[in-house]
Amino acid sequence: MDHFLYRNGALHAEDVPVAVIAAAVGTPFYVYSTATLTRHYHLFTEALAPLPNLVCFAIKSLSNVAVLKTLGDLGAGMDVVSGGEYLRAKAAGVPGERIVFSGVGKTREEMRLALEGGIRQFNVEGEPELRALSEVAAGLGRTAPITIRVNPDVDARTHEKIATGKKENKFGIPIERASAVYAEAAALPGIEVIGIDVHIGSQLTELEPFEQAYLKVADLTRRLRSEGHDIRRLDLGGGLGIPYTRSNEAPPLPTDYGALIKRTVGDLGCEIEIEPGRLISGNAGLLVASVIYVKNGEGRDFLILDAAMNDLVRPSMYGAHHDIIPVIEPAPGTAPHPYDVVGPVCETGDTFAKGRPVAPLREGDLVAFRSAGAYGAVMASEYNTRPLVPEVLVKGDQFAVIRARPSFDEILKRDTIPSWLE
Ligand SMILES: *Cc1c(COP(=O)(O)O)cnc(C)c1O
Repeated sequence: MDHFLYRNGALHAEDVPVAVIAAAVGTPFYVYSTATLTRHYHLFTEALAPLPNLVCFAIKSLSNVAVLKTLGDLGAGMDVVSGGEYLRAKAAGVPGERIVFSGVGKTREEMRLALEGGIRQFNVEGEPELRALSEVAAGLGRTAPITIRVNPDVDARTHEKIATGKKENKFGIPIERASAVYAEAAALPGIEVIGIDVHIGSQLTELEPFEQAYLKVADLTRRLRSEGHDIRRLDLGGGLGIPYTRSNEAPPLPTDYGALIKRTVGDLGCEIEIEPGRLISGNAGLLVASVIYVKNGEGRDFLILDAAMNDLVRPSMYGAHHDIIPVIEPAPGTAPHPYDVVGPVCETGDTFAKGRPVAPLREGDLVAFRSAGAYGAVMASEYNTRPLVPEVLVKGDQFAVIRARPSFDEILKRDTIPSWLE
């Protein structure tokens, strides 16, 4: 559930009419709901209780510092995958002991940044990274707490671009080689082994792949302990899917996911970490756009919006579905009209939906893309020199711009002319 509902015929973000934000900020823009972010975070903490746990929000799904502070102030940890994301978490006031560093290509500079600023653990993805981290940590006179990400060779049965737990994927080490790699880690001077990490993919709509993966992690915990490693923390990754359509999707609930965690790894006495991104942020955000034109084409009508693939790339990149709804609630009984919903970018790929039934719309009408909080603004670009889409946060009857739309002046100033052209 989320907090974007029609009230008196007008779409609201919590208690704020979306049209009021549009008038103040201009379109397109993202709007996020504090109440939805908070609720989704608590679904996980409640599902994991009473196990000792830390819910680490996967920043890559939605990384605005105001959103991170909203979650961080509730006690959330953060899962970061770059030095930049690490700095975002710190800027949001999250202490290092609640930040975990994931990612397959951490540089030595990023390692140094996190070691000096404080870090809960690194989730190490391979032996070359392990050796580099040991060197960097030892050079700073420290030891780096680590888990090693194992690849359990489980089919997450999700979109191929976001499945990460099969042996052909670039992530982690094959679980069969774990004993050897943990032995090497334990012998390195700058490394302290504290646990195991696994993340098998994103937008999983069934629990079964998690179950397979976590059972393998439970076996591995016992084996590594018998080999002398003090495995005391399990990072079980993110990946729980969300419903992108109102009607016919029912992905598993966090409570069922929590019960699965307790059933598979709950008796090991480990502290549990999870790294949900999409389930916390996805349905906490809308992308709001205006209709520029309604154009009648060959056997089809185009709804040309002022939002485009550079603002929300998921439909063109993954073929993803987002519900598109009018900001003014259609009168009861209004027959929907099929539209090809497109943006102004000069690519046919700039198509949000084909033949999508939406209530009849006219120039200037506002529409909202649902479920746009995750992998929306963070993947936006300025392709076609379209200013980076602004972000707004709502709390009750208040709203604030949390990232302003850059002016064309600011955009043009970033380019510089080399001396030979002056
Ligand atoms: C992307 C990612 C996540 C978050 O995935 P969601 O599907 O958004 O929950 C968590 N951990 C790691 C390592 C990731 O790469």
